[in-house]
Amino acid sequence: MKRFFRVFVRLLGCAQALLLCGCGGTREFTGADTAMGTVVRLTVFAEEGGTQKEEILALIKELEEDTLSWRLETAEVCRVNRTAGSGERAELSDALAGILEQCAELTKDSEGAFDPALGPLTQLWDIDGWAGGRRTGAFRAPEERDIAEALSRSGFARIHFKPPFGEEPASVCPEEGAALDLGAVGKGLALDRIREYLETDKTVTGAVVSVGGSVLTYGKKPDGAPWKVGVADPENPSENLGVLTLDGGAFVSTSGDYERFVEEGGVRYHHILDPGTGFPADSGLRSVTVLADSGLLSDGLSTACFVLGREKGMELVERYGAEALFVEQDGAILMTPGMKALFRKTQ
Ligand code: FAD
Ligand code: MG
Repeated sequence: MKRFFRVFVRLLGCAQALLLCGCGGTREFTGADTAMGTVVRLTVFAEEGGTQKEEILALIKELEEDTLSWRLETAEVCRVNRTAGSGERAELSDALAGILEQCAELTKDSEGAFDPALGPLTQLWDIDGWAGGRRTGAFRAPEERDIAEALSRSGFARIHFKPPFGEEPASVCPEEGAALDLGAVGKGLALDRIREYLETDKTVTGAVVSVGGSVLTYGKKPDGAPWKVGVADPENPSENLGVLTLDGGAFVSTSGDYERFVEEGGVRYHHILDPGTGFPADSGLRSVTVLADSGLLSDGLSTACFVLGREKGMELVERYGAEALFVEQDGAILMTPGMKALFRKTQ
């Protein structure tokens, strides 16, 4: 019921268009909305229906409101964070348990460069608040002692995650002041849900969905042409550095220092933090784009690689069988061989 109400509201609110393709009755539905603090855009090709667009937008909001948000009390992450310091184990839903199991692996494999329990540190910096206009006035970078204090409460180990074991459900027991922040994988997770949804609707022949800097391609275009996904130029983000040519089933995410940042005294403070230093990551990169076979991985790996830098980042994506494109501070582009085959630089 909740979903249908949201669908109705969104129908009124979102930009929408309906086009007849003239390709065997396939119709094109396009839409845009905001969720997870960013813009969602989608195009769906379907033989019937027409509600897919609204269903997809509702799925993203549902994931945010029921599971991932660290601000909305309706969300499990927010509720779990509230138990910090109580000493009691909070049982997790299967959905959040599955997400944390995958995050735990990525945290280990990235040697902590990606950390889903960096909440105390991200809240201290609150770059999203400053960059998004929620915080006003003059930005001041936090004091080093406050950064050290936030770091002392951060880190996945402080959540004490137990995966499910036999009859026992997964649970966490966050230490005092610890907090989950799944901002680095939320958009990718939304795309994973969307792909599952699309697979259940046999009338959908193709789709492309972007949630901020994360994109999913699905199926085929009516004319059989491949999907084209732009890679933003960090120096001038409204322009593309180049374009990726992709089949359906690709997940592409980009993390960059140009996405959310604030400046003080000529220094750019961006939103991807290095758990090793407590400061915005400074690994010599401007952006990392990762192509993987799940949204969680493409999103999580792009964040991890941005923190790790070129060499270690490259090792990590290779280990996961993913493809990556790194843009360095001087504008140089470095790619995995698989990415090179898909990328064409804008002339
Ligand atoms: P990514 O590189 O994918 O992720 C960066 C984000 O991950 C940071 O913003 C931080 O939250 C976290 N992070 C930073 N460093 C690390 C690290 N080393 N390891 C792990 N995580 C790290 N934005 C708003 O302005 N207002 C909102 O109300 C809002 N609500 C949101 C709700 C949800 C459910 C989600 C998923 C996002 C929301 N956002 C909101 C956006 C969010 O705050 C981040 O800005 C966004 O997720 C960053 O995504 P990215 O792809 O740009 O960067
Ligand atoms: Mg990410």
